[in-house]
Amino acid sequence: MKKLVSILAMMALVVSMLALTGCGGSDAGKSDEGGKKYVIATDTVFAPFEFTDENGEFVGIDVDILAAIAEDQGFDYDLQSLGFDAALAAVESGQADGMIAGMSITDERKEIYDFSDEYYDSTVCAAVKADADYASLDDIKGQTVVVKTGTQSAAWAEEISKDYDLKLVYKDDSAMMYQEVLSGNAAACFEDFPVMAYGVSQDNGLKLLVENQESFATPYGFAVKKGENAELLEKFNAGLKNIKDNGKYQEIVDSYTK
Ligand code: GLN
Repeated sequence: MKKLVSILAMMALVVSMLALTGCGGSDAGKSDEGGKKYVIATDTVFAPFEFTDENGEFVGIDVDILAAIAEDQGFDYDLQSLGFDAALAAVESGQADGMIAGMSITDERKEIYDFSDEYYDSTVCAAVKADADYASLDDIKGQTVVVKTGTQSAAWAEEISKDYDLKLVYKDDSAMMYQEVLSGNAAACFEDFPVMAYGVSQDNGLKLLVENQESFATPYGFAVKKGENAELLEKFNAGLKNIKDNGKYQEIVDSYTK
């Protein structure tokens, strides 16, 4: 009986989708798993990838790319701005189907997540208060620095913390992290370079101390839990390719970085 109900529901859905789209794509309905609305997790404050703009709207490269891909591929989703570490946990625990959060593709993470094709190149960096006298990592030896939990830039800070005798303080989002530096509680913060470069260009009160191009520099990808949501990953990749081919991807990136 249960089965019959779900078959009927599925049929009704296929019919309504055909009516809506006006075409009978062979995988309509089937690939949508009964009109599934994917839960996609993201960071809170990570401009230009995701952030709340002056109109109070949640925007950014990740936000727009996801919207363009979903439109291209015809899927529904609910974007939840949870914070980076919380997004990692939500996908790992199955509370979210996927995440797009300026997430670096790493071998370690591939043990837990499956990644899409890469969509943005990134490196990591350290930044200090704009009026600080620091010019290199040597200048912040023995000091407190602030990092964002679970990130690649935090991993870099952890790696060099012994050599530079750094005391690490962890925050959940970039805004709280920058605040620690601006208030003088921390000498520096560690962040993805494109994000810090954007922030500095928007007069966030910080300046670049050093960019690390050697290690922890891996591109961003969309992620799902390993072995799960393969169809969502396929749609993301197919949509990404389409919006790259038709110029939409570049248009989105340019709208935030030019
Ligand atoms: N790219 C970094 C990482 O994946 C940071 C991402 C973020 O803070 N949203 O670790």
